Amino acid sequence: MVLPIHVYGDPILRERAQPVAADSPELQQLLDDMVETMHAASGIGLAAPQVGRRERVFVVDLTPMKEELEAEGETLPPMPMFFINPEIVWTSEEQCSFEEGCLSIPDVREVVERPVAVRIRYLDRQFRPQELEARGMLARVIQHEYDHLEGILFIDRISAFRRQLLRRRLREIARGQVSAEYPLALSRV
Ligand SMILES: [Zn+2]
Repeated sequence: MVLPIHVYGDPILRERAQPVAADSPELQQLLDDMVETMHAASGIGLAAPQVGRRERVFVVDLTPMKEELEAEGETLPPMPMFFINPEIVWTSEEQCSFEEGCLSIPDVREVVERPVAVRIRYLDRQFRPQELEARGMLARVIQHEYDHLEGILFIDRISAFRRQLLRRRLREIARGQVSAEYPLALSRV
């Protein structure tokens, strides 16, 4: 089922997501719904708070960029990927800049500087412990989605000057003056 996506201004995007205690049919359903929602919105990552949930999970699917990334030498694990109770345990000192967007902040794109590589521990969909070192685009999406679980948005990681330029647009989005080609859950103020 495609779930509506919560947008900037919704308090759930500022909450810290809570660890999942155990596997359950409900969790598996949530993961299915999150993948379906991400695909319906043409996204490459989606975190539970974006669909109004507090579970500490996110999903990633870089398939739309697979050829391009592999041409650049990036090798990708099988997609989609499921990250349950993830923990970033290492980030590289080396940083890089890339323009990011977010399904919860439609039509806003900003260059964000982040570590080039990360190591992340998590449970996969079968609740098996995994540890992955990711670089490049996968590392970037992982960090963006992981931030969502901490209540952090990519616009928190841009300069105060850039954020100032976005202030009016963000206020409009928070007021519900926003549309997208996928269902939104608008918080009514
Ligand atoms: Zn996002």
